[in-house]
Amino acid sequence: MTVPRSDFAHLIEGESVTSDEALEVINPATGEVFARCPSASPVELDRAVAAAARAFADWRERSFEERRTVIRRMARVLRDHQGELAELLTLEQGKPLGQARDEIARAAAQSEGMAQIPIEPETLLDDDTRRIELRYYPLGVVGIITPWNAPINLAAGPLTSALYTGNTAVLKPSPYTPLTTLKLAEHLREVFPPGVLNVLAGGDALGAWMTAHPGIAKISFTGSVATGKNVMASAAGTLKRVTLELGGNDAAIVLDDVDPQAVAPKLFFASFVNSGQVCMAIKRIYAHERIYDALCSALAAQARKARMGSGLDPATELGPIQNAAQYERVIGILEDTRRSGARILAGGEVPAGRGYFLPPTIVADIDEDSRLVQEEQFGPIVPVLKYRDIDDAVRRANDTRYGLSGSVWSRDPERAAAIAARLEVGTAWVNQHRATSATVPFGGAKESGIGRQYSVLGLKSYMEPRVISVLKQAA
Ligand code: NAD
Repeated sequence: MTVPRSDFAHLIEGESVTSDEALEVINPATGEVFARCPSASPVELDRAVAAAARAFADWRERSFEERRTVIRRMARVLRDHQGELAELLTLEQGKPLGQARDEIARAAAQSEGMAQIPIEPETLLDDDTRRIELRYYPLGVVGIITPWNAPINLAAGPLTSALYTGNTAVLKPSPYTPLTTLKLAEHLREVFPPGVLNVLAGGDALGAWMTAHPGIAKISFTGSVATGKNVMASAAGTLKRVTLELGGNDAAIVLDDVDPQAVAPKLFFASFVNSGQVCMAIKRIYAHERIYDALCSALAAQARKARMGSGLDPATELGPIQNAAQYERVIGILEDTRRSGARILAGGEVPAGRGYFLPPTIVADIDEDSRLVQEEQFGPIVPVLKYRDIDDAVRRANDTRYGLSGSVWSRDPERAAAIAARLEVGTAWVNQHRATSATVPFGGAKESGIGRQYSVLGLKSYMEPRVISVLKQAA
């Protein structure tokens, strides 16, 4: 076995910092430890928060234009180091190299796009006697906590929001995927003034310390619903602002007028990209009974021809599940599905050998109350459910505590749009899924989250509104 890499450090006030404790990072394609990095204690967290608080005094005074220029430099660093970062991302996360490259490019583009958005003071009233203005001020130190499925993309949104609006940040990646974020931080050392961006790797406890820390004004959290609830409860102790981007159980409703052959590849990609480990992946497909059998066959054909393997192999379309705990969970859902008597049309066999692999699995004729339909599977297994009446399909799509996003697919986009508007979600798409952009708000309804990321709405959630109300007469 090769000696694990260990060229990783935290970033605190522009310095590379290490810790007494270490995290071991596993390559999910092999199941072996390939790297180690430091794991922060409360001492490093205190240092990072103090550094961010010091840096805030100057950073908050910079103009939006100055901060936009620095965010553009961050985007350039992402592009300049795209190859190196993407390879590290594939090693720790598992996704195919092409998708890892896309993630880095997307992080750069989204950051630039968000830093273009103007934040202007608003005049609410201006007449002979009064002027009332609404201005926006940064909050202070923002704590950013990210998950393991898309560590760079999911850091870039909150980070740009926080820094562009004049806050400073302490960023903590998932203990399963800390390395690409730490390496990016190293490349960003010269880009941000010391203390504006601090990055600490650590376990779940570090996240909990951040949510309770009195020096942090806001938490931007992306992860599971269960942890999101803990974050909100802990943040209540100091009344921190929170943005919570949590899990989803997205439904795609396929109407009776589609061509199953044409729509199947699009549905397949939106379900299985990153092996289904995407918050807004399609997790339930509701197909009209007229096209049900043909769509099931077309999806199964897609699944059978998809190439699964190590993300480093250029032919790979689907990588492994990211970690052992998630692998066991998904296999538990698969076993429950098999026991329930549902039909497994493709996949479903756990391959022998190393790594956390499960081939793309398509399931038909499954009960609505099964685990696969009710829970967020977050893995490469998707149920196809039959409906006759569109009202029934909408009711079933909405019958969940999740409300991240959803989609409706039809030959007639306007017919689909009317149905999409009835989905109780943050984003309802027509004839597409997973389409987001820097200027469009994204976030969850119901238990899929609180607040929105991206867009002017998202940026303003990193700021405190202040009313300046002037009575135009001498005191
Ligand atoms: P997770 O909730 O287990 O962990 C997310 C992060 O929270 C990690 O950095 C972890 O160390 C940290 N953490 C754990 N316990 C904590 C605590 N008590 N206090 C503070 N931080 C704590 O989630 P995960 O398994 O890494 O990610 C998968 C989940 O993320 C899925 O549910 C997925 O849908 C969701 N997700 C949502 C979005 C979105 O934009 N809505 C995007 C990507 C992923």
